[in-house]
Amino acid sequence: MNKTIFQKIIDREIPARILYEDESLIAIEDINPVAPVHALIIPKKCIETLNDLNPADADIVGKMILVARNLAKELKIDQSGYRTVFNCNSDGGQTVSHIHLHLVGGRKMNWPPG
Ligand code: 5GP
Repeated sequence: MNKTIFQKIIDREIPARILYEDESLIAIEDINPVAPVHALIIPKKCIETLNDLNPADADIVGKMILVARNLAKELKIDQSGYRTVFNCNSDGGQTVSHIHLHLVGGRKMNWPPG
């Protein structure tokens, strides 16, 4: 399988602004932010979509949410509020086949989403 753009960032083949990294995941600034804060939390293990998760991935998914929570506090949007989103496949708006959690904030979000 060809490397995803996120795998290339994890492997330092292309640059990104890294907000957090540990042995199992990385968090970066989105290159095309849709809000004043737009981070992506990405597991180092490439799982293509949420449909491909298995029970053994529960820890990494939980960790992704905790990292989003921590970043929201660090980036000072925890009190004003923020949104976390996993897009899945075409109707969900997923463009990179390597699961990632969007953390967006710094402005009022709309509901329902577009
Ligand atoms: P998706 O549409 O799959 O849910 O989200 C993919 C996200 O990755 C998009 O918000 C897009 O702006 C971001 N993205 C795509 N390519 C790059 C890149 O090379 N660097 C960074 N930092 N973000 C990227």
